[in-house]
Amino acid sequence: MTSSLAPSSLTPSSLTFLGLGDMGRALAHSALKADHSITVWNRSSGKDAELVAAGAQSAPTVADAVAAADLIVVCLLDDASFRQNLGPVAEQLRGKVVVNLTTSTPGEARELAKWAQEHGIRFVDGGIMAIPPMIGTDAAFILYSGDREAYDAHAERFAAFGEPVFAGTDPGAAALQDLALLTGMYGMFAGALQSLALVRSAQPEVSSFVPLLQRWIGAMSGALGQMAAQIDADDYKLGGVVSNLAMQAAGAGHFDDVVADQGLTTNLIAPLTELMKRRVADGHGEDDVASVVELLLTRKA
Ligand code: NDP
Repeated sequence: MTSSLAPSSLTPSSLTFLGLGDMGRALAHSALKADHSITVWNRSSGKDAELVAAGAQSAPTVADAVAAADLIVVCLLDDASFRQNLGPVAEQLRGKVVVNLTTSTPGEARELAKWAQEHGIRFVDGGIMAIPPMIGTDAAFILYSGDREAYDAHAERFAAFGEPVFAGTDPGAAALQDLALLTGMYGMFAGALQSLALVRSAQPEVSSFVPLLQRWIGAMSGALGQMAAQIDADDYKLGGVVSNLAMQAAGAGHFDDVVADQGLTTNLIAPLTELMKRRVADGHGEDDVASVVELLLTRKA
């Protein structure tokens, strides 16, 4: 049963958790499993019940929760909910470490770091590369950025959630790499969905095809190392080109053709093949496919 304690009866904890949604609860449970004493707070009541039964202390207000520990882990819905709840207790947070695991954009994280600095708060932003059931397992890793000293002081505690990875002292670095990793994931999903749609348009099931798709995607992911080296060197022939862009762009028309031949209307990879053709038209047909990154790096005037 939930027992919201009166402020006077709260005892000091190792960590305080603000936000007990699906992710916040998973984080708090993993801290309990690692034998940390924890205080938890959630806007609406009831979500702390299992945690309290497992040994957590429940705070009735944000102010009580932040008073109970020097390390505050925030896992709310978004930037607005962080500001709405942490803003009023900024002065109480002075000298404490706030770790924001709420998903943010790099810009939001940098603004929060500025706000924290103005109030003498040590601020670390984070990006969770896991879904709740993965928290506390070897499969999870969490990106952190911002105050390196504060991160180093608590990295051992963060390890309870998943492997901690420090992304950089720019407070926006974790958010940027989080969104970059998700971009890679959705790009892979986009290609896989297009692939499965093609096969499904020709046969009644796609499950038998999936092992081939996994094998192919796995093999091709091995190319990322050379791609990255070429991008870092601004040299899209580095290491030797075995499948040049002109050849690949010429073959790209087949993707439009197969979609049309199967009577389908959508080609999710068309934006990529358009860029490949543009790069060839600009005279870079002998480059490797990584050459397309030059178009993606074009900045707004
Ligand atoms: P949920 O929707 O399960 O929980 C949202 C939490 O935010 C709840 O505790 C909710 O409180 C609280 N909240 C929302 N608005 C406010 C507000 N204005 N004031 C106070 N509390 C508020 O989301 P998750 O727990 O899954 O996600 C939390 C964060 O973790 C998000 O930023 C998400 O992007 C990130 N994340 C989630 C992943 C996932 O797979 N779930 C994966 C990686 C990151 P209440 O219970 O009262 O509604």
